[in-house]
Amino acid sequence: MPTLGNPKGTIEILQKYQFTFQKKFGQNFLIDTNILEKIIASAGITKEDCVLEIGPGIGTMTQYLAEAAREVIAVEIDSSLIPILEDTLSTYENVSIIHNDILKVNINQLVEEKNQGRPIKVVANLPYYITTPIIMGLFESHVPLESITIMVQKEVADRMQVGPGTKDYGALSLAVQYYSKPEVVAYVAPTCFIPKPNVGSAVIRLTRHANPPVQPKNEAFMFSLIRASFNQRRKTLMNGLTNATGLQVTKEMVQHALEEMKLSPTIRGEALTLEQFSLLSDLLIQNKEQF
Ligand code: SAM
Repeated sequence: MPTLGNPKGTIEILQKYQFTFQKKFGQNFLIDTNILEKIIASAGITKEDCVLEIGPGIGTMTQYLAEAAREVIAVEIDSSLIPILEDTLSTYENVSIIHNDILKVNINQLVEEKNQGRPIKVVANLPYYITTPIIMGLFESHVPLESITIMVQKEVADRMQVGPGTKDYGALSLAVQYYSKPEVVAYVAPTCFIPKPNVGSAVIRLTRHANPPVQPKNEAFMFSLIRASFNQRRKTLMNGLTNATGLQVTKEMVQHALEEMKLSPTIRGEALTLEQFSLLSDLLIQNKEQF
């Protein structure tokens, strides 16, 4: 039975180890059993699953995961939390604790070792300062995974779900929607954590697409275009792309592609859908060969 996840159990552990929170690691520990149960249920964890937990903290969600999954791998950066995790998870034989920075872990290798390369599920109450690099790293390095169920800042969850024409639409929305189907499963108040964060939070589930909704000829080039378009958000797509170093596209090439797509030469990147970015990417590659 989980012993953490409520204010009493959490405070007892924090006092026992005289733990001091480190702001630089984005430490806000969950103290709400309803939210913990909701995360486990919406991640659809079963006894078949191998789960990667990023940032287990004192092991609160890890206890719930260990009860529900076949195996849990928990990666924690803060060395002062390792003896605490060894204590709070001592009764679970299906948990491996890894002391490392998740951004330095070769997750593909880990999945190969622990799950023979079969898809894992990722579950995390993420440190908000590295949400985007963690998600992009998991997707871009093609880690075999079924889904990512994560607590993020509310605004970031909203950004992942929106389409063109909204102020939150950007490179993260496009990348998340290319690789997965995003669904917010809960909004979480600051009072559900110790200490309370200054922002609202949301749990979002990203279910990996078996096949992406578009098939650009060159995925990396499409994402370079997307990044360049949103780097200079207030500029026209034409200026954004021709000013970007490394893309090597000329004004004529972009003009030609936009004409073929029947789009205005003054259109901004934020107006394009994923399908249009994919087509633009293919046309520019074709035009590069012609010009
Ligand atoms: N999972 C716990 C919970 O829900 O109560 C703790 C969540 S807390 C928001 C984020 C955790 O991620 C902290 O334990 C923090 O030390 C850890 N962390 C921060 N940066 C990390 C990184 N780069 N790699 C691994 N863990 C990290």
